[in-house]
This record gives sequence, C-alpha cells and structure tokens, in this order.
Amino acid sequence: MNPSLELTKQGLCEFCKKPTEHGPWTDEQLAQVIADIGCDLNDFADHCDDCFVVYVGMGDVEYAQKLITRPMTLTRPEHLAQLKHMKFMAAGKALQDFREKHGAVYRHMPESIPLFNELLEHAPPEVVKAFNDKAKELNLIPETKFVNDAGEPVYSAEQIAETLGVPVEQVEKDIREKFGHRLEAGNVHQVQ
Ligand SMILES: [Zn+2]
Repeated sequence: MNPSLELTKQGLCEFCKKPTEHGPWTDEQLAQVIADIGCDLNDFADHCDDCFVVYVGMGDVEYAQKLITRPMTLTRPEHLAQLKHMKFMAAGKALQDFREKHGAVYRHMPESIPLFNELLEHAPPEVVKAFNDKAKELNLIPETKFVNDAGEPVYSAEQIAETLGVPVEQVEKDIREKFGHRLEAGNVHQVQ
C-alpha cells in the first residue's frame, strides 16, 4: 500500500501528517469515496484544509473553498497572509494595466478609485505606512485631530478642504461621488 493511502486511512494529511477533517476511514468508507470520485485507490490521498489550500488551491482560499462543500478550517495564519499577498499583487497588476491603457491621466479617472482601494485593502502594513508617510510629506493629509473607535485617524471635510486648498463644497461632493456607497457612520473622538 502506498504511504499516502496508509496516512489517509489513519485520517492523517498526506503532506503535514496532521489529522484531517474527515478520517480515519474504514475500508468500506474508502471504497465508497473511491467509487464516488472515480479514482484509483492507489492514487487517493487526503489533506488537511491548510495543505488543501496551499497545494490544491495554490494559496487561494476562495478557490479551494469552491472545491469542497463544507467550510474550511485554516489553522496557519501564514496562509491568510499568503492570500492577502496574492490579492495585493493582483490589485497592483490591475492598476498597472489600467495605467498603461490610459496614460498619466489614470489617477484622475473615477474608474481608478476601486483599483486603488483594492490595492490598499490588501497592502502589507509597511506599504500602507509608506503611502501615508509620502502623503504627509506632500502635505496631502491633515493633522490628526479626530479618531474613530478603533483609534484610526479620521478627517473632517473642512480639514481636507483646508489642507488641499479647495472649497469645502468640492470636498463634500467628491466624497459623496467617490465613497458614497461605502461611507461608514461611527463615533468620532477628539484627540487630546
Ligand atoms: Zn496538512
């Protein structure tokens, strides 16, 4: 019997040898599964959810999730980090393609906003920090006077208008147009 099948029968993952979500299997159960999926008994191996995501889904939890009928139990945080990184790279590629297609004006096109949002949403903390540092350096970010419940800085339309040197009505209009669908209401606290 091949070593993978031996592990499968014991309910262990072919790759990391940790318990899977399904086993251990009896010979009858195994015969049933083999018949259901139509594969050779000697080619059959079982995996824990972590290894399933890494080796079958190639790091893509969503893709791997589509292949199974129950929710996945991931135990290793690096897999989530890996997924985040893949989404970050994909968002970067999408933005690059957009820029190549439209040239330097791409930054001012409303269609670029969701692409930037996607990029920032999946960006590693050091990239987010670099973005913010650069924006502060260029005086694009107002002084932190208010924070939300999570302690993250929030800015009033007046503050943004003052910093950018544009009318407050313009800022309010831009915010409504660009972020209207995803604006969140919440508590705001004044920084002491
Ligand atoms: Zn495993």
